[in-house]
Amino acid sequence: MSARVVRLPWNGQFWPGRVVDGVPTFGFRSAPPGLATRRQLRERGLCPGGQDWVAQLKWRRGRRWAALYRLDLAQPSPGATTAQLVSLEKAQRVLRTCTECGRIAPYRLPRFNGRRCWPCDSSHDGEAA
Ligand SMILES: [Zn+2]
Repeated sequence: MSARVVRLPWNGQFWPGRVVDGVPTFGFRSAPPGLATRRQLRERGLCPGGQDWVAQLKWRRGRRWAALYRLDLAQPSPGATTAQLVSLEKAQRVLRTCTECGRIAPYRLPRFNGRRCWPCDSSHDGEAA
C-alpha cells in the first residue's frame, strides 16, 4: 500500500489512503472509523438514510469495490425492531471481540485469522500489509 494520506472532506481528518476519481479511496482493512459499507450498515440494522456515499473501498488490486457511507448520517433500517437492534449489537460485539486479548475492535474481526485483532494478528506473522 502507498503511504499517501487523504483529507476526509466531512471531518477534516487525515487518513492513509488515495484519491481516485476525486473520491477518498481506502484498502479493505484501512478505512477510517465512522464509515461503513452498505452491507456493514445492514448488519447493524442501519441503512444509508438518503446520503450519497462519500468514499470507496478498493481491494484485490482494485477488482473489488464497495461504497462507504457515513455512520453518523445512517438511519435505522425501517424493518429493524428494537429487539433486532439489540441482538444485532450483541452479535456484532462477539464478532468484534479479539479471541486472543479480549479487546473489542472497532471493526468486525475476520474469521480467517481466528478473529484476532490487528495488533495480535500482526504480532504473529510479523509483516505489515
Ligand atoms: Zn487482540
